Amino acid sequence: MRYKQSSDHSAELLRQVLPRIARHGGLYYPVNYAVWYEYLTGGNLPLAEEINRRLENNNLLSQEDIEKLYDVYIAQHQATQVEKMEVGLGGLLGKLGELADKSGGEANEYTRTLKECEAALGSAGDKGNVSEVVATLLSSTSGMRDSAESLRQVLDVTRNEVQELRTELDSLQNEAMTDSLTGLKNRRGFNRAIDVMIATDPDALARCAVMIADIDHFKRVNDSYGHLFGDQVLRTAGNALKSVVKGRDIVARFGGEEFIILLPNTPKTGAYTLAEQLRNTFARGRIRRINSDEYIDSVTISIGVAMPTQGESIDQVIERADRALYRAKQEGRNCVRVAAA
Ligand code: GH3
Ligand code: MG
Ligand code: MG
Repeated sequence: MRYKQSSDHSAELLRQVLPRIARHGGLYYPVNYAVWYEYLTGGNLPLAEEINRRLENNNLLSQEDIEKLYDVYIAQHQATQVEKMEVGLGGLLGKLGELADKSGGEANEYTRTLKECEAALGSAGDKGNVSEVVATLLSSTSGMRDSAESLRQVLDVTRNEVQELRTELDSLQNEAMTDSLTGLKNRRGFNRAIDVMIATDPDALARCAVMIADIDHFKRVNDSYGHLFGDQVLRTAGNALKSVVKGRDIVARFGGEEFIILLPNTPKTGAYTLAEQLRNTFARGRIRRINSDEYIDSVTISIGVAMPTQGESIDQVIERADRALYRAKQEGRNCVRVAAA
């Protein structure tokens, strides 16, 4: 978990966050919460130093400033944390390797003593000599037992440390690749999923369809009903997308009110049908206002679809899907347009 404050403490922080957002003329967006929240917890030193530096010059932080701070000190910081954990994991694995070498060395030493004892026993002429050999064997065996026991203890501790690191690494990696508002993948998560797909099957992209959906006049939704409601609409949109796609499809929130869907093994007609189905789901859907029985008019989406051509990169396909989306907006919104090859 990224934040470890108690419920009371986090509520107190929130009380301090709101006036700061207001003082800087900022909007009540999640990024603004995140930046001021991390500033106040004191857990993000580089961010706090940067903000303090700016505040000393009596600067107000614009929305753009806040978003940049978020990118540099929160989003990228998270990625750096993941890298650090990877280094930590590498170090622990190295330590395990050294321990295995050391125990190998001790076992060799023990074998050598046994061989020497065997040779000494073979030539043992009298009883005194035999008891000397037996004594050597006993002490050597108990030394070996001790070192095996301490090795086992160190290994147990190391194994636990590796397990903890791995769990933390997994959750950090997931967090860094997930959009916290909708629970969908974010851009980073989307790119990673594509990398995994291509690593398994280099030709997979050529058989995919790419779809970009953008909510129509979303600014109006925010302006008419407030940003909290806007966020609720985004969550509802995320859920609608999740319910339409299946299995190996990759869905992500690509930006503010824009979503991307990659459909493996899907021909153009299939992609178009799905896009229309999605568009219809939104157009027919009704969204209830927060804590109220009032429903608002439907929120519509426009969709651009593109099919990869031979040798095209994912970025090129996305660009064409984006142009098709632009055309859908130009031609009246609440419609689907397919990019020319
Ligand atoms: P169009 O039909 O041309 O797409 O118009 P639009 O109003 O949807 O597009 P525009 O790009 O002008 O505005 C997008 C708006 O989305 C502006 C911004 O305030 C809002 N937005 C972006 N991210 C968030 C968010 O996380 N929460 C909320 N509530 N609004 C957001
Ligand atoms: Mg829009
Ligand atoms: Mg947009």
